[in-house]
Amino acid sequence: MSENKTVRIYGTADDSIVDGSGIRFAIFTQGCKHACPGCHNPKAHSFSGGVAVSVESLWQRIDSNRLLAGITLTGGEPFERAAELIELSRRARAKGLNVWAYSGYLFEQLSAGTPSPAAAELLKEVDVLVDGPFKQELQSYELRWRGSSNQRIIDVAASLAAGEVVEATLS
Ligand code: SF4
Repeated sequence: MSENKTVRIYGTADDSIVDGSGIRFAIFTQGCKHACPGCHNPKAHSFSGGVAVSVESLWQRIDSNRLLAGITLTGGEPFERAAELIELSRRARAKGLNVWAYSGYLFEQLSAGTPSPAAAELLKEVDVLVDGPFKQELQSYELRWRGSSNQRIIDVAASLAAGEVVEATLS
């Protein structure tokens, strides 16, 4: 990984239990264009806000945390920062950690290269994708790992292989 590569983030949660299955290192990237009414994190919308951090420093924190089941890329919109996150995800998976990502884009858009070709590349390095914009009218606190019922929890490898969305089966 390039020593100099940086990614602009809103923040991190080192031991999250609400951003996917198990204990996770969650990275909240900075910048989002979706403007979902009722967004839980409006301060993460501006592309110039937050702070630029070294990707290597994020990796060092992940690599040294022995409690983690995986990492979660969320935001903001992490697929707007796809180019910065691909190698980090590869490293996490090589270490045996799983990768979850939350996106306001749909699986079909990401796999077709929206918002950038790098997004489709990052998608290949994700195990579970929670997709689609947050919809306030479909919000429920009963939902596990998602904010509104339109969002799908997707097995990315199975979906890419099938050419259509395969929802994840999680215990
Ligand atoms: S995608 Fe997420 S961060 Fe972006 S506006 Fe929607 S709820 Fe907020």
